[in-house]
Amino acid sequence: MDQLTPIRRQYLDVKRRYPHAIVFFRLGDFYETFDDDAELCSRELDITLTSKPMGKGLRVPLAGIPYHAVDGYIAKLIAKGYKVALCEQMSDPATTKGIVDRKVVRVVTPGTVIEGNLLDERANNYLACLAPARRAGRAGGGDPWQGDAGFAYVDISTGEFVAGALTQEQAAAELARIRPAEVLVPDGADPPPWLDASMHVTRVEPLWFDSDLATVTVQEHFRVASPEAFGIDRASPAVPACGAVLMYLRENQSASVALVSSIRAHRAAEYVGLDAHTMRNLELFTSGRDLRRDGSLLATLDLTNTSMGARLLRRRLGQPLVDIAAIERRLDAVAYCHESALRRARLSGMLREMPDVERLVGRIVAGSAQPRELVALRRGLELIPRLRDALSDQQTPPLRLAERGPEGEVGAGPGESVPSFDPRIAEIAARQRPCDDVAAAIAQAIDGDPGATLDAGNVVRPGFSEELDHLRLITRDVRRFVAELEAGERERTGIKSLKVGYNRVFGYYIEISKANAALAPEHYERRQSLVNAERYATPQLREYESQILTAKDRAAEIETAIFRQVCAQVAAAAAHVLATAAAVAELDVACGLAEAAARYNYVRPSLDGGDAIEVRDGRHPMVERSLAAGAFVPNDTRLSSGDAQIGIVTGPNMAGKSTYLRQVAVIVLMAQCGSFVPASAAAIGVVDRVFTRVGAGDDLTSGQSTFMVEMIETSAILHNATARSLVILDEIGRGTSTYDGMAIARAVVEYLHNRPGLQAKTLFATHYHELVDLAAHLPRVRNFNVAVAEEHGRIVFLRRIVPGGADRSYGVHVAELAGLPKAVVQRAREVLLELETDGREHAGAARATESPQLSLFAATPPDDGLRRDLAGIDVDAMTPLDAMRVLYELRDRARSGAGQAYGP
Ligand code: ADP
Ligand code: MG
Repeated sequence: MDQLTPIRRQYLDVKRRYPHAIVFFRLGDFYETFDDDAELCSRELDITLTSKPMGKGLRVPLAGIPYHAVDGYIAKLIAKGYKVALCEQMSDPATTKGIVDRKVVRVVTPGTVIEGNLLDERANNYLACLAPARRAGRAGGGDPWQGDAGFAYVDISTGEFVAGALTQEQAAAELARIRPAEVLVPDGADPPPWLDASMHVTRVEPLWFDSDLATVTVQEHFRVASPEAFGIDRASPAVPACGAVLMYLRENQSASVALVSSIRAHRAAEYVGLDAHTMRNLELFTSGRDLRRDGSLLATLDLTNTSMGARLLRRRLGQPLVDIAAIERRLDAVAYCHESALRRARLSGMLREMPDVERLVGRIVAGSAQPRELVALRRGLELIPRLRDALSDQQTPPLRLAERGPEGEVGAGPGESVPSFDPRIAEIAARQRPCDDVAAAIAQAIDGDPGATLDAGNVVRPGFSEELDHLRLITRDVRRFVAELEAGERERTGIKSLKVGYNRVFGYYIEISKANAALAPEHYERRQSLVNAERYATPQLREYESQILTAKDRAAEIETAIFRQVCAQVAAAAAHVLATAAAVAELDVACGLAEAAARYNYVRPSLDGGDAIEVRDGRHPMVERSLAAGAFVPNDTRLSSGDAQIGIVTGPNMAGKSTYLRQVAVIVLMAQCGSFVPASAAAIGVVDRVFTRVGAGDDLTSGQSTFMVEMIETSAILHNATARSLVILDEIGRGTSTYDGMAIARAVVEYLHNRPGLQAKTLFATHYHELVDLAAHLPRVRNFNVAVAEEHGRIVFLRRIVPGGADRSYGVHVAELAGLPKAVVQRAREVLLELETDGREHAGAARATESPQLSLFAATPPDDGLRRDLAGIDVDAMTPLDAMRVLYELRDRARSGAGQAYGP
């Protein structure tokens, strides 16, 4: 140790405390990394690896990063899942004797980033935490993830904090929805098997999950008597998850933890259940195999004008509501904006100028805001009264308003006229509380065009602090002072060549050439002799010099203090400002959805608690956008648990089956998110969950998806769907042999139909035309097909859904369309004909042999007489000849009778 330089010792001390982070060690204008960290940075950041002597005979690997470019490098490391500990100099090296004190001020991890340039402004950045239902390693052992898991997530850039207890399935779906940048799990327990392998997992101290410690952590942080204050049960595994999140933020010295001021309890039952497959299959956030954002529902609907609105819209699309009143409130706001293009244009114009108030407040509270961010916040807050004015400009006659009750009294000062709002927007408008005091505090103290950083100065507005103004006068007028002094001294001494100058060692001096040195007055004190000149100081000069230096320091001090004080004022009002920002985001979402509705011709859906889904002229919002205007063929839908429960959709490849199925699900989800829908009318009985299973061939992302996976997912649907669910099954059973696939598809439909209490509304696309027969047995099954016309032996896709089953697959026609050689097409026709005749015979036989399994769900009972007779045979008492006779008899009965049970 003695052999090491003091800096090396200091570094090792820091690194010991942050072994899991890359330590960025500030040395002057650089952040330096050493040892393994240096090698890693050199590799990952493509920067030069050198070495540095740091002790007797010791050279240490080193990679340095200029401090002004640090954000970009941190961004790269974070994106790769690394953590960076920022170790800063705690005092000014210029004025410090000995080694400068250094401290880690923050550990940046993927889930705790707050730098604007490291974040996607249109998406939240979540840190999530999973708490196992049971402590790992406790007596009894077993899988700690068995049972409900505690789940918490926080976006520390905006202060959002949500927690709840979720089933494993729900937790997996939530993770897929929020896509956290980082997931905390207790060290020692294996992460749950359903945790997506691509997530950045951070293992943390298991003690943090101790329920007593976590309860105390939560109580202390939020200053509440119990987690029950947020509607979270004391015994809920959500509490350990919250505790661990808070501890992690504390450990990483994230000052943003102060922004987190309450917990929202996650109640799964409030939202439509959507699993990861369904979000992907319906292309809510990403589209196609490569999971791009374009072409997704989000990309289609997102015409918001603020980042806050964009984030809110994304959250809403992932969490459609089931509460009709809440959905209607959202639709009201959309309708208000939809009704007038002028109103919409005016609101969008203002919203476009609105900065990201949430994240600005976040950075101010965290203490990392720059002066210009305060100014941006001020401008945003100054827009609020204008937005409210725009909203209060309504055409509803005042009389009707008065009947509806009081609106908009908030914010009306004496002498001001009380704004009244259209009832549809009143609630949102009322929550846009003017934050005049905060805006005024910033406006008074902070210059409208401040320096980029606090060091750059000019942060405080002139006139705000008399002392600061005076100090600035002193420091700014140095040149004039020097000139005046010079002129005065020249006159007094009569030395024309006398000069006043400054250097760092001697400070201010008066310089006289050697020739004139004899003329220097008494009170000049000689300081320095040069070859041709002498330099002097005077008491007046010394006095002035110390004034300037202290003035500079003092001015910087005052600017910092005022800036901090204004930040503290903003922080004190953070909750208030964030509430207003949330209402602005809601307005922005309403305005954006109204704009989409107007542009793309959507209508307001009506919602009810019934069990029917009826859509007139429904369209698929994304496929429609990808086609020429007017090219998309609209289709009707009517599903209802009571009668038309299951729709079986047949039709040739490429006819539009998948598009139709998805369109129905997307319309339902859009409606329950509070958006208008692509249709001419829609009445939606709200659904509790949407399930989709897309057969291997049609699965957008996992083309390689095996039959096993397909069956696991189908099984999950059958176990979890309720009478209020919507189930979309697209070509299931495809991944196996024809007969297996058909048998499974059939059994699934029968189960959905016959299982008491299940009766989920279902759309089932299939190329197994045999399933069309089911409608004859099962009263709530309806057949549909996507119409095609045949013209001169070729098919034309009409894209129209019509009642009845398709009778041919038209696969050969599609092959012909695709340009297969004529001879091949002709031969295929012949083979098809042979197969179809054969197949009809085979199918009969297959049904006969498989009847015992299928009979579990079949509407017609099997031939129980045959079974009874078989069971009654006394084999031991028979002669071989008797046995032969009975066998022949049974065979004949089976041939004549069993086939009928399944005949059409
Ligand atoms: P299938 O599932 O029957 O094989 P898809 O639903 O994948 O067919 O549709 C194939 C293509 O047909 C789509 O990519 C789209 O371009 C077009 N299409 C589907 N439905 C419509 C429609 N209603 N109007 C116009 N074009 C449609
Ligand atoms: Mg398809």
